[in-house]
Amino acid sequence: MRKTGILFALFSVMCTAFIGCGNDEADVLVMATNAEFPPYEFYSDEEIVGIDVDIARIIAEDMGCELVIEDMAFDSIIDAVESGKADIGMAGITVSEDRLKEVDFSDIYAEASQAVIVKEGSDVTSLADLVGKRVGVQLGTTGDDFSENIEDASVERYNRGYEAIQALDQGKVDAVVIDREFAEVYVSQNGGLAILDESFTDEEYAICVAKGNTKLLEKVNASVQNLKDSGKLREIVDKYINAE
Ligand code: GLN
Repeated sequence: MRKTGILFALFSVMCTAFIGCGNDEADVLVMATNAEFPPYEFYSDEEIVGIDVDIARIIAEDMGCELVIEDMAFDSIIDAVESGKADIGMAGITVSEDRLKEVDFSDIYAEASQAVIVKEGSDVTSLADLVGKRVGVQLGTTGDDFSENIEDASVERYNRGYEAIQALDQGKVDAVVIDREFAEVYVSQNGGLAILDESFTDEEYAICVAKGNTKLLEKVNASVQNLKDSGKLREIVDKYINAE
């Protein structure tokens, strides 16, 4: 009798400690991402690092869980979260009407925009010049969605953002529409490219969870709020973007 009681108590303690990490594994918080999106997520040696990773580590820590990162194609992330393979999706994901039909989003943690990259000296110097041009985008991104509205443009889709930029370099497309912070990283590393001052769209990044998982969403939002109030979020962004 006593033994059963002790076992039961142990079980309850374990359950209480474990509840709240996510849906799948009891003691880990699984983050689905696409680690090809500096400065938000990218490989540094063997390790995935970046703004999103630092934020996710704090969210997991606040929940008393271990963070596990699953690297996948960008257009698989929403599916992974929807199906419960991952608890959160974080990959500089822009909140959009379409995505809101599939997943729930946290509060916004970053303002973003789609930028236009061209070759230095290009005749594309403003958004209006994109009419009728060949525009490179990353498949399944908001850059892909919005480029469809450019009059008479042919949209070339690439699996990876940097492949779109390579295509620009090789003259296969006239411009690339892609997230500004990512564009800044690539343009600073490759000569001969320029970013238009004008943004193509203004966007906001948030963390996605499975539809209806309000318990997890509340915890994520509490951590995001804390990160904002404490100045820690700014610190993380500065570490990857504004630092000299
Ligand atoms: N912000 C863009 C989107 O949500 C692209 C994100 C990315 O390529 N990781 O579609």
